[in-house]
Amino acid sequence: MLRVIMAALVLAGGCGLQPRRAHRELTAVQLAKVPEDAPRRASRHAADPVLASAPRRAPSPGRPAAALDDESPEPPEQAATREATVVKEVFFGDGDRPLVALTFDDGPNPATTRKLLHVLHEYGVPATFFVLGDRASKWPKLLADIRNDGHELGNHSWSHGSLRAMVPAQIRDELDDTNAAIARVTGATPGLFRPPFGRYAPSSLPIVAERGMNYVLWSVDGLDWGSEADEIAHRVVADTHSGDIVLLHDATPKTAEALPAIIRGLRAKGLGFATVSDLTGLPAVASLD
Ligand SMILES: [Zn+2]
Repeated sequence: MLRVIMAALVLAGGCGLQPRRAHRELTAVQLAKVPEDAPRRASRHAADPVLASAPRRAPSPGRPAAALDDESPEPPEQAATREATVVKEVFFGDGDRPLVALTFDDGPNPATTRKLLHVLHEYGVPATFFVLGDRASKWPKLLADIRNDGHELGNHSWSHGSLRAMVPAQIRDELDDTNAAIARVTGATPGLFRPPFGRYAPSSLPIVAERGMNYVLWSVDGLDWGSEADEIAHRVVADTHSGDIVLLHDATPKTAEALPAIIRGLRAKGLGFATVSDLTGLPAVASLD
């Protein structure tokens, strides 16, 4: 028997190229079938009637909204007859508060993590690190340092391979092995998952749902690969507004070099900082039955 997973695509506002709306709104519900061999676990999340009745609408242009490849979704009326699990895909958070979330992907990294932590500590800024399992398992002390400095840890897969090129068993291993590497250090399974390259296929929806996790994308891309520090800082400060989730990386020294100017510039715009879970309301720890 098939169950239906609903990914609530929480899309609103806009990137720097789009006019921003005052209020965030739900714009789409994406449905996908659960593979027959997927492990069964009843969700603690009741199907949210607001999410279930939300109209389908194309994501706004100009933001990384095409994360989910749309493969023959079932109509909502069929979904209503089946047990449903809600997975949220979030690009940004509450824009009514003057807060933003800085996120750092692809670490931990012996060459860069402590530089980032030093700047964040100096300015008293909380952040969210989406770590790779193979790196987390190699450098658990760095992971512990991130955690002990009060930052949030999310799952960014084990290998950084494309989820769209993987069969469900591989995706399960990517998530579970990374969650285990994080839990060994923190004692808790993360609830936040950022897919590599910000892309995934519907086949990953039930796998993420069954682990009580949610997708976290971003609304501002720092493009800190290949840019000079002042360019990175200028771009992030110019593009970031209340509620934005900012993509940066724990992989290049330019990011730590740009970070003081990013923090000062955003504070000069009246913005403060929050972790992704605080900004979005998504649970930081996996919500399992
Ligand atoms: Zn990455």
